[in-house]
Amino acid sequence: MTRRGALELRDLIARGDTSAKAVCDETLDRVRRSPAQLNAFVAIGEERARAAASALRSHPDPASLPLLGVPIAVKDNICTRGVRTTAGSRVLENYIPPYDAAVIERLESAGAVIVAKTNCDEFAMGSSTEHSAFGPSRNPWDPERTAGGSSGGSAIAVATGVVPLALGSETGGSVRQPAALCGVVGVKPTYGRISRYGLIAFASSLDQVGVFGANVKDAAACLGVLAGPDPRDATSAPVAVEDYVAATTQEVGGLRIGVPHTLMADGVDPGVREAFDASLDALRAQGAILEDIDLPHSRYGTATYAVVVMAEASSNLGRFDGVRYGSRVEGESLADMYARTRARFGDEVKRRIMIGTYVLSAGYYDAYYRKAQQVRMLIRQDFERAFERVDVIATPTTPTTAFKLGERLQDPVQMYLADVFTVSANLAGIPAISVPCGLVEGLPAGLQLTGRPFGEAALFRAAAAYERIRPLKVFEPPTS
Ligand code: GLN
Repeated sequence: MTRRGALELRDLIARGDTSAKAVCDETLDRVRRSPAQLNAFVAIGEERARAAASALRSHPDPASLPLLGVPIAVKDNICTRGVRTTAGSRVLENYIPPYDAAVIERLESAGAVIVAKTNCDEFAMGSSTEHSAFGPSRNPWDPERTAGGSSGGSAIAVATGVVPLALGSETGGSVRQPAALCGVVGVKPTYGRISRYGLIAFASSLDQVGVFGANVKDAAACLGVLAGPDPRDATSAPVAVEDYVAATTQEVGGLRIGVPHTLMADGVDPGVREAFDASLDALRAQGAILEDIDLPHSRYGTATYAVVVMAEASSNLGRFDGVRYGSRVEGESLADMYARTRARFGDEVKRRIMIGTYVLSAGYYDAYYRKAQQVRMLIRQDFERAFERVDVIATPTTPTTAFKLGERLQDPVQMYLADVFTVSANLAGIPAISVPCGLVEGLPAGLQLTGRPFGEAALFRAAAAYERIRPLKVFEPPTS
């Protein structure tokens, strides 16, 4: 199999060396042949993909399209008209959206072809894709281990070369964490950079669509297409979109990189730490300036995140009652119908609805929810202070490489700790990228770079420069 990046494919199609239709057919074939045990895909949008690819033939100016003919897989919590969208849940198992998410419209107007929907934790709640109602996904590097989550399927789709780009969603690390564990690039933009219209809501003050790419430049091109305001999402920001692809050609000489050493003092696996330190050395050798910084409140990140995320989830998921949304399970009375319908949520979703309802209840609101909002502000201010001195902040993306399936299912707190380095960016609303930084005992590790609000270009600059110094090792499927 020849692996081609998104921009490489686009250029081949624009030159007429191949066609969008041929690329689409080959990709659909790869989706179908993707190993069932990896469980990356939950639906194939064959008809829709073929229609989109052939429509490109009659486009008046195909060469102007930034993603001409590029096949893309999409996490199953992003609405696709006519293609089943479940958010990994039984409650939505028969849902066929009558409309497209804003990101889908933007991709298609840029010439991209949506080929398949990918597996995810139910309503994006999880770090391992084990909370999907459609079974867990598995890590291609070691199928006994997790691909990460909640956007595990999208990470696998890119890591195994089925598609060069995939969409995921981020509430607390769900793009960066699986990207790190599967050895691909994953980027979460600034809150408000991308429209959330048509993204099934989990925790609305944190949710953003994110991008997986086989390389930094492809991810930059895709984000450039998705970014920008949308009147249908009042939280999308009217801030100019920089040329992210151009940013990937710049070097890192003079770039100031902050390293929060105290935050990483414990809990980081020694192998991951070594890979991280080696990546800092490589960046320093290219002229980047490393500075020790302090993010004193980020150690409360996971606790703060848990309170905020569960509160918002309990409110957002109230709509799935079998009347307004969600497939109804009939009952003997109205209350019984509600109960039976909502009993179809999985355990993790139920846990979050219950805890979320608790932290928002009259007697506990001040002790938990209000307190969490206050700490969230302190976390944000730590970043503002740090960004007065540095341009980007580096940490490992995750404290360990991929853990074994089942290992953390009975211990939700251990599961939440997988996100210790990622949740702060969501709480602060700032952008972050994960780029592969080597293998630790045969498993990928990720370098995370976090930036200023709307400072995605600086992240692409640093990540691309790093990628040039230490080119990625891509996953090779076993030859059979
Ligand atoms: N793993 C985190 C959680 O369980 C983040 C999920 C996400 O980003 N969607 O909430």
